[in-house]
Amino acid sequence: MRIVLLGAPGSGKGTQAKKLVERYNIPQISTGDLLREAVAAGSELGKRAKTAMDTGQLVSDDIVLGMIQERLAKPDAKSGFILDGFPRNIPQSQSLDAMLARVGQPIQLSLLVDVDNSVLLKRITGRRSCGSCGAIYNIYFSTPKVPGKCDKCGGTLQHRSDDNEDTVTNRLAVYEEQTAPLMSYYKAQGKLRTVAGVGSISEIFDKMCEVIEAQIRPLATAMKKISEATASAKKAAKAGNAKKAKPKKAAAKKKAAKKKVKKTAAKKTAKKKVKKKLVKKTAAKKKVAKKKTAKKKTAKKKTAKKKVKKKAKKKAAKKKVKKKAKKKAKKKAKRRR
Ligand code: AMP
Repeated sequence: MRIVLLGAPGSGKGTQAKKLVERYNIPQISTGDLLREAVAAGSELGKRAKTAMDTGQLVSDDIVLGMIQERLAKPDAKSGFILDGFPRNIPQSQSLDAMLARVGQPIQLSLLVDVDNSVLLKRITGRRSCGSCGAIYNIYFSTPKVPGKCDKCGGTLQHRSDDNEDTVTNRLAVYEEQTAPLMSYYKAQGKLRTVAGVGSISEIFDKMCEVIEAQIRPLATAMKKISEATASAKKAAKAGNAKKAKPKKAAAKKKAAKKKVKKTAAKKTAKKKVKKKLVKKTAAKKKVAKKKTAKKKTAKKKTAKKKVKKKAKKKAAKKKVKKKAKKKAKKKAKRRR
């Protein structure tokens, strides 16, 4: 994804570029930031750029193009980039095209953030940025919670030296004269798209993303729309099915409840049967035991009777023997007489 962001100073393209970096995971390359770093580092290049920057003029093309060439050669720019504040005039855009043509990676989209001049002045003069994390605030439009302090990291908010009214007026004039013609340049290539830079930051961002998706990834956008449509259709169908399925569910629930009742009843009867069987078994056992004991008793009685009979027989036999003996003795006595 190779994008050029166009817009007057204060149009908010820097803020949007930071958000695009997060969304698309490609670097933001800002010549303004690179130049400020060079000035802060006190390098020869920085010293040469400072005077032009302080007066709101453009830094010479050879300095800026050298810086850009070096930056685009870094590995993180291989998968794409968002150019912010570059190109700033027609010669720069021609040099950029030539540079990218050599590696077969032309610019795909030039996105203009369009803001009215009266708004721009307030935006630039009210702009404050965090010295630590780079977060951007505005004393008119998006104030920090604590004046002068960054909401995100607590860093000190800074007022850019070239954000004063005199310089800003100069910068706006330079933009009209040198940078605005780039719109025609990219329009001629069929790469210019415009987004109105009004509304909240996230509203503008959404509009920008829509344009980017449609221009750079038309196929992916179409696929996304199709998948979204099928997903919502599926959802609707599911919702419809759920409504239809409701009575079925209720019937199924009733059936299940009935089954449960039947099951528990069956269980109860089974339990009863088992109990009955057990009772029968124990009764039968008791009967058998009773019979056994009765048999034993009768057997005992029989043997007792037998014993009594035997004894009686024995007694009778003895008596007989005694009688016989007596008779014999009587007979003997009679004979003796
Ligand atoms: P910016 O942060 O983009 O507003 O840039 C701040 C200042 O840096 C500008 O007013 C110019 O002096 C200088 N500058 C940034 N980008 C360029 C560029 N592409 N060509 C020339 N000068 C630039």
